[in-house]
Amino acid sequence: MPELPEITAIADYVGAKAVGTQVRRVDVAALSVLKTYAPGPQDLVGATVTGTRRIGKYFILDARKGDDALALVVHLSRAGWLRWSEKLSPTPLKPGGKSPIALRVHVGPEGEGFDLTEAGTQKRLAVWIVRDPQEIEMVATLGPDALAVTRDEFGAILAGSRAQLKTLLRDQRTIAGIGNAYSDEILHAAKLSPFAAAKSLDAHQADALYAAMRSELQDAVERSVGQHVATLKAEKRSGMKVHARTGSPCPVCGDAVREVSFADRSFQYCATCQTGGKVLADRRMSKLLK
Ligand SMILES: [Zn+2]
Repeated sequence: MPELPEITAIADYVGAKAVGTQVRRVDVAALSVLKTYAPGPQDLVGATVTGTRRIGKYFILDARKGDDALALVVHLSRAGWLRWSEKLSPTPLKPGGKSPIALRVHVGPEGEGFDLTEAGTQKRLAVWIVRDPQEIEMVATLGPDALAVTRDEFGAILAGSRAQLKTLLRDQRTIAGIGNAYSDEILHAAKLSPFAAAKSLDAHQADALYAAMRSELQDAVERSVGQHVATLKAEKRSGMKVHARTGSPCPVCGDAVREVSFADRSFQYCATCQTGGKVLADRRMSKLLK
C-alpha cells in the first residue's frame, strides 16, 4: 500500500506533468470506485489542473473550471496504483472488463494522462470528486500529518492513547500518512516493540519514536520524489530494513527478521533490536509447530 512518501512522490510527479493542462476526458471502467455522484466525472472535463497535493495517504488533484474549484481525491488503498502515460489509448475503456484499470484521466494535448489501477479481487480503491476534500468524512477526520505533528503534540497523543504502538502509528485518525510498511520501519529504527503500550513510553523512548518517524519518512520522501511513478514500488521495497523481510538478517544486528501474522496481514520486527530478544506470539507459527 502506498504511504506518505509514495503519495508525496506521486503528487509531485503528476503535478510536474499535469499542472496547467486541461482535463480532456475521464473514463470510468469500474463504477464502484466512484464514491460521489455530483459533481461527476463529466464536470471535470474542461477544467484546468491547478495543483496536486497529498493529505494523509490521499492524493488530490485540484482543478478549476470557471469559478468552480473541483478536486479529484484518490485513496489507492492496498492494491491500487497510479500509472502515468505520455500517450494513453483513445479507445474508451470497457466497463466491467477484466483490466486492472478502474479510472482513466486524460489531461494533456498529446494524449498524456494517468490510469488508476487496482490489482487483485478485493476492490478498495476509492475516488471522490468534490469541491473541497474536507467534505469527505474520512479526510476531515484525519489526525495531524506525521511530518507536521510537533513533538509536544506527539507526546500528548501517546499519553492519551490506550493503543499499542503498531496500532497507533497506523491509525489515520490519530496520525495521518503511515501504514503497515513504514510503521514497521519506524518501530525498528526507534528500537521499540510493536506491542508496547503507547502511554507506557518514557520521555527518552517517545523522543526516539518521534525522531524515527520523522527520519524514516523524510528519508523515504527524499528517495521517492523525482522518481518516475513506475519505479516507486521497487524503491520503497529496497529501502526497507525489516518490513516484508522475514528471515533475512537485520541490517543493524544480524539477527533474523521475525514476523507476526494475522488472518489477512502480517508485520515484521527484529527481536534483538526491539523486544530485548523476546519472540512475539504468532498464531500462525504456533499452529504450525503443534
Ligand atoms: Zn536487529
